[in-house]
This record gives sequence, structure tokens and C-alpha cells, in this order.
Amino acid sequence: MRTITKNTLLYKSKVEYADFCINHVQGCSHGCTYPCYAMMMAKRFGQIKSYNEWIKPKLVSNALELLDKEIPKYKDQINFVHLCFTTDPFMYKQKEVCDLSLKIIEKLNKSGIKTTTLTKGIYPKELSNMEKYGYNNVYGITLVSLDETFKKRFEPFSAPFKDRIKSLKYLHDNGLKTWVSMEPYPTPNLLDQNLLEILDKLYFVDKIIFGKLNYNVKTSEYGDNVAFYANCARIVTNFCKRNKIDYHIKYGTQFRNDKTTSAVLQFN
Ligand code: SF4
Repeated sequence: MRTITKNTLLYKSKVEYADFCINHVQGCSHGCTYPCYAMMMAKRFGQIKSYNEWIKPKLVSNALELLDKEIPKYKDQINFVHLCFTTDPFMYKQKEVCDLSLKIIEKLNKSGIKTTTLTKGIYPKELSNMEKYGYNNVYGITLVSLDETFKKRFEPFSAPFKDRIKSLKYLHDNGLKTWVSMEPYPTPNLLDQNLLEILDKLYFVDKIIFGKLNYNVKTSEYGDNVAFYANCARIVTNFCKRNKIDYHIKYGTQFRNDKTTSAVLQFN
């Protein structure tokens, strides 16, 4: 895999999800076509020129050295560190990415810092080794469908949905906290599906975050999209209440928006 070096790694995020963040890879082989906001930004800031360049990720070769310098500097300010905003820490079939992510999580945990992660890949079973990685990390997957034909179109090189869920369930069964990002959830003109069927597969998780599909013209073309998302938000809310799952509906997804933008990934 090609590499780049960076001058800094840990940064304080201003967005809804997180506290501090790490992006230790540039690009992402999952190649989502929703579109991928991170790819759009990478193009805008001249890091990449094309989709084909984006799906050939580059590892930050000095990530662990940077962390050694930055952990002591920020440790007192950090509540948790999120991996990742602009790439995927457990990219499907990308062993070098997964190995570096594991080393980063281990290093942070050894310094007493917990992590949250989000992937469209598969979690390695070794994360259940709590002596090595600690027990208060929170592991998440993105899941907006169970339809593999949809996946081929919108997340062409990510892990199969059922394998994602299985790897998350394994971590849950081993006593770890788990969450699911149901974002960007498609409108029926992109995929007509039963939201409850998807939710039923997620009965075991600790938290669900639900959000609409942005930046896709098809969504705004769907006439009833405001009412559609409001209804989805209601279904998710009711399911979570019934199953005692914590939840958050992302800003802009329902009529009466939840303007809370902090601590979305806080877990009790
Ligand atoms: S997994 Fe995330 S970062 Fe990777 S291509 Fe898809 S949306 Fe972009």
C-alpha cells in the first residue's frame, strides 16, 4: 500500500459525532457512491483528482510516532477518540489498514484513552482481548440496508451486510459496547425496503444513530422525503424505546430537529 506522512494526527472535531479524531489513511477502498463526503472534500482540497485515486488508500506511515508526541499533549483534554471521519479504520480486505488501526487503538487504550470506531468493514475478533485493548471502547458499523444489490451500487467494495453485523455481534457477545450508524438512509425511489426488518437485526446494540441521505439529488426528487424521514425517525425511536436501546436522530432528519450536536457518541 502506498504511504504518506502527516505533520499532525489527533485533532478536536467540530462535528456532531465526536470529541477528538484520527484519520490515519487518505482515501478509502470502499468507494461509496452515495456520494462520499470525505471524497468530495479530498477533491476540493486537491488531495485527490479522481474516484479511482480515492479508492487506492494511502497509509499515514508516521501515525504511531505522531501519536507518541500528541497523546501527552492532549491527554487531559480528551474524552474519547473517534476513528475515523474521512476514511474507514477496518477497510474490507485491507490488512495493513486494519493492523495500523489495531495498533492505534492499543496505544490510545494503554494511555487510558477510550476509542469509538465506525466501519463498513469487519471487526477483527482480537478486539475482544480486553487486556490488550481495554473494555470501554465502543464499536460501530454503518448499516442502511440488508440488500446486497443496493450495496453493490452504493458501497461497492465494503463488507457484506451480514458479515458486518456478525462481527459486531461477536464483540457485543464478548461484553463490549456496540452501536450502529443508519446513515445515509435511502429514500424509496433509491430502494424500497422495510426499515423494521433491518432494525430487527440490530436488537443487541447499545445505540442507534439514524440520519437521512444528503448530497444526493434522488433524495430531493422523492416528493414526500420530509414526511418519509419523519416516519422513519418515528419507527427508529419506537423500536429503540421498546428494546431499551439508546438512540439519536441526526439533525435535519425529522420535522422537529434535535439540535443537540454534542456527545452523540457518549455512552453510559
Ligand atoms: S466507507 Fe466512508 S470514507 Fe469510505 S468511501 Fe464509504 S463513505 Fe467514504
